Amino acid sequence: MESVTHSNWDTVIGQERVKKILQTAIRHNRVAHAYLFWGNDGVGTESVALEFARTLLCEKQSAVSCGECSGCKKMAHLQHPNLKLIFPLPGGDADKPDDDSLENDVVDEVRRQISEKARNAYFHIEIPKAKFIRIKSIREIKKESSMSSAEAGKKVFVIFDADAMNDAAANSLLKILEEPLDDVHFLLTTSRKDALKQTIISRCQLVQCSMLTDDEIAAGLITREGQDETQARFVARLAGGSYTRALELLKDDLRTYRSDVVTFLRSALSASPAKIFDDHDEYISGKKRSEAENLLLMLHVWMRDAIVLREGSDAIFNIDQRGDLKSFVDKFSRSDLESCLSAVERALELLRRNVYLPLVMLSVTVNLRRILHAK
Ligand SMILES: [Zn+2]
Repeated sequence: MESVTHSNWDTVIGQERVKKILQTAIRHNRVAHAYLFWGNDGVGTESVALEFARTLLCEKQSAVSCGECSGCKKMAHLQHPNLKLIFPLPGGDADKPDDDSLENDVVDEVRRQISEKARNAYFHIEIPKAKFIRIKSIREIKKESSMSSAEAGKKVFVIFDADAMNDAAANSLLKILEEPLDDVHFLLTTSRKDALKQTIISRCQLVQCSMLTDDEIAAGLITREGQDETQARFVARLAGGSYTRALELLKDDLRTYRSDVVTFLRSALSASPAKIFDDHDEYISGKKRSEAENLLLMLHVWMRDAIVLREGSDAIFNIDQRGDLKSFVDKFSRSDLESCLSAVERALELLRRNVYLPLVMLSVTVNLRRILHAK
């Protein structure tokens, strides 16, 4: 894909309120020294931070970046000398000194992921084995923020996953935030605000990014990913307000999960509930949370379709599973399918909050069994 130069806030899906806040701050010359953009994974905290950085670094110095100046052109590749991206890297564990340099293959991976991020701001940088932001990265801020750089103008430090700072890194950043310098800005992002030190939060202007609507996600998938409307709407519904999740769902083959739903339900309702552990160990012992999440999403669609069918409507998603759905509805016509839907929703929520996977799967199984077998 060609890397394109974006000249305005269109790179950010939705988040109109946030865009307005930031543009107003620029227009009134009231840009804060530090911002914390927070919200669920994939709703666009990072794309907001990057677009804001682009606007601050644009030579035109207006509320909308021009897309044409040399600053904007450098930002299109995230290679502006006055921009520094900070994110978790390997070797940032608290008990290890991390002043060692990164291995060559890690450096290559970082470069690859940054260029992917430049193409798609909703791509989340995840370097293998990286859990923490290295204190070394924070110390470099201190050096670089006080140095006069080759390029005049503002300097912007963007810290993705700011909650991944250990105590030492957070304390080091706090000292920097306590001594604001003119023309130096910090843009932090997090999906786990509660995990950030209160002292850091209190130094930042808080900007909450809300969940995206299904319409916003679908429109993004159509215009950016070239999806047809049906597929875009289907994926948007499943994405839970996260565009990043929607992009992942596009990549996964959801058909497998859809057929697994039928056998999953069958085992869950069988005489021996332990059977589900034999039949669906791949989802339960949790090699991959995302696979379990896909299964639950398809289960959610299934229950929703069952309710729609029972109400006599035909507007179902799983058109090709109509036969199976019909017999399910006939068998459980008197069951509380709405409660089943809520049970699956609840499981998805727990999964996204990183609750222990086997526990989530076991509890959703027990709940569905209880609800569907109730007379
Ligand atoms: Zn520009």
